[in-house]
Amino acid sequence: MPFFSDALSRVAPSPTIAVTQKARELTAAGRDIIGLGAGEPDFDTPQHIKDAAISAIERGETKYTAPDGIPELKAAICDKFRRDNGLDYAPEQISVATGGKQVLFNALMATLNPGDEVIVPAPYWVSYPDMVKLAGGEPVIVPAGIETGFRLSAQALEAAITPRTKWLIFNSPSNPTGAGYSRDQLKALTDVLMRHPHVWVMSDDMYEHIAYPGFTFCSPAEVEPQLYDRTLTVNGVSKAYSMTGWRIGYAGGPKPLIDAMRKMISQSTSCPSSISQWAAVAALEGDQSFLADWCAAFRRRRDLVVERLSAIDGMDCPVPDGAFYVYPSIAGLLGRTSAGGALIDSDEAFATALLEETGVAVVFGAAFGLSPHFRISYATSDGALEEACARIARFCEGLH
Ligand code: GLU
Repeated sequence: MPFFSDALSRVAPSPTIAVTQKARELTAAGRDIIGLGAGEPDFDTPQHIKDAAISAIERGETKYTAPDGIPELKAAICDKFRRDNGLDYAPEQISVATGGKQVLFNALMATLNPGDEVIVPAPYWVSYPDMVKLAGGEPVIVPAGIETGFRLSAQALEAAITPRTKWLIFNSPSNPTGAGYSRDQLKALTDVLMRHPHVWVMSDDMYEHIAYPGFTFCSPAEVEPQLYDRTLTVNGVSKAYSMTGWRIGYAGGPKPLIDAMRKMISQSTSCPSSISQWAAVAALEGDQSFLADWCAAFRRRRDLVVERLSAIDGMDCPVPDGAFYVYPSIAGLLGRTSAGGALIDSDEAFATALLEETGVAVVFGAAFGLSPHFRISYATSDGALEEACARIARFCEGLH
């Protein structure tokens, strides 16, 4: 009898976490590494948020809480959805969990049966398909490549829907491409969903606040209010408030789904960290003005990286609408050999040789379901980005 489960055999370790860990280990071993693997802002968590956590500790808010969030945080989330997205959720329609990742996981675990299909446009965030598989469902990967601006078309969505489709996972601005859907582009997709009332939408809005001029964020239930009853609107404080380690994600959705997700939490983590929840209240209710400054810094870094990478012969680097990733194509570099003797026959070989030979850690495109590309997270200092781009350019020049 095998010791490990069939469910475990259906998933691979997260490549984003693996690259980040590898970069940490190489740095600890004394190598000069520039880590552009982890999708994590380099800004410190703002002081007023830290103060709220310290004060929660001092007040003794250090015990179990309600499984899916303290009332104060649920109220702050309801306000946020109303303020930013024009979405009305009651507190009993809110689920708070240990990061956006656990929110998605809970929703999939609570709804998927064997054979249920989940449409995942590719490139996708690495964890969507594996979470679907862990929950017993079938990811249906629909290509949305560089030629469509990394956006799923209405025709491709329509063609992917079957009677077994349970969810569409939607993510704008996207990890790993930074592509955002305009209201019209999203409306074209919601129009398709209106014709298929059995399909629900899981909208991962984690990068909502990192949006650049020319792009205005919108969420499916906002664009098509008739989808409200079958949409789970997922968000979190990790990226917007630089709180990745605090692990607080949340969602608004229909009450029966939120109740089901609460059951998952009650039998797994019991509740998200009490201290982090109080910090999240301060994040959502406090001053939001620094977000514009952070966004301006991300935009400057985006422009720097896009300019440097676009100048490299054989690389095509589309300009992202939001988030803090670029997803360049290396189609023009395949088949060459690196200065260190590595044959670059895939994006994984490219990323491996780049790390070995230059110390720049990036995530290879196959991890996101669309090759030949690689992802850079540019949420790091301008100096580190300048140096990383120079190393990447030298590496590519050295290919023969
Ligand atoms: N979401 C981030 C990323 O894509 C964090 C790591 C992870 O959980 O995948 O890099």
